[in-house]
Amino acid sequence: MKVEEILLKSWYISVDPYMRGRMNEVKSYVPPFQVDQPITGRVVARVIESKSKSFSEGDIVIGNLPWATYCIEKAEKLRKIETHLIPPSYNLGILGMPGLTAYFGIMDIGKPKEGETVVISGAAGAVGIVAGQIAKIQGSFVMGITGSDDKCKMLKEEFGFDAALNYKTTKTLRKTIAGLCKNGVDVYFDNVGGEVTDAVVSNLNFHSRIALCGQISHYNSLRIPTGPVILPMLLTRSVMLQGFIVGNYSDRFVEAYAQLTQWVTEGKLKYKETIIRGFNKLPDAFLGLFSGINQGKMLVEIE
Ligand code: NDP
Repeated sequence: MKVEEILLKSWYISVDPYMRGRMNEVKSYVPPFQVDQPITGRVVARVIESKSKSFSEGDIVIGNLPWATYCIEKAEKLRKIETHLIPPSYNLGILGMPGLTAYFGIMDIGKPKEGETVVISGAAGAVGIVAGQIAKIQGSFVMGITGSDDKCKMLKEEFGFDAALNYKTTKTLRKTIAGLCKNGVDVYFDNVGGEVTDAVVSNLNFHSRIALCGQISHYNSLRIPTGPVILPMLLTRSVMLQGFIVGNYSDRFVEAYAQLTQWVTEGKLKYKETIIRGFNKLPDAFLGLFSGINQGKMLVEIE
């Protein structure tokens, strides 16, 4: 090992839907993964050996690291994390990229006012579960859309959502949303796209806002999907639609991290993780995001 290099043992590896996009040879905000190179992503790891004064053996760090049991990384690419008050894995979820995404989508784009109605799709996942709770903190009526009755129950009973629906078993999505959101929809935080989004959009109020965060229902599509043409409706109802990538807000991460940490330590934000154990389970965990086997953040713990 050279000076300023650190030997790391992976502890928690994050699997995320955006990685699917990196498996296509297309122009995007991150370059595609390369064949014969390891997949990289957010990893929490232990320092095994350090050639840097900034890190000592036993420190817990986070970084963009390869999917590997062990790796050597430059010290400048790593950040030491606090592990006494908050579980280290939270740095990959509520206090990591998914939590920051929820924060900016709600606080900067959706901007729900007290009493307004906020709908979250992909509500029981890493981003959605946080987005819904932040909207509740703002005093909104919050409805979550997700893929099972158990997840609906969890959203209402554990996370304080006012209403939830299972998009896989609801036959008339548009009407059911209208029935649950009696005052229409003021903010839509979209994680999924497709038919779910078409149904929400037809319930949008005048001057409503869409935080376009993810479109997971399209990530495996081989062709550009077609569906209802929604732009005329956005025009006539003066709807604001903004697509965003969390990295757009990198200059405000400190602010968001401080606020999320405060809400977590005060017990105002709760969190859930689905942790699968074993390095060889990484592909199953990643694919599970697309069949919805996770509640909250999906992680793989490396033994
Ligand atoms: P999740 O933890 O929400 O996991 C994905 C979930 O998506 C699954 O659990 C499943 O839940 C749901 N899902 C899968 N396939 C479909 C489908 N065809 N239709 C509807 N729902 C589906 O992942 P994240 O919270 O990490 O990410 C959520 C979204 O946010 C993704 O689209 C992701 O790409 C995006 N994202 C965007 C960021 C940004 O910067 N803009 C940053 C981070 C994430 P269910 O049981 O409900 O179907």
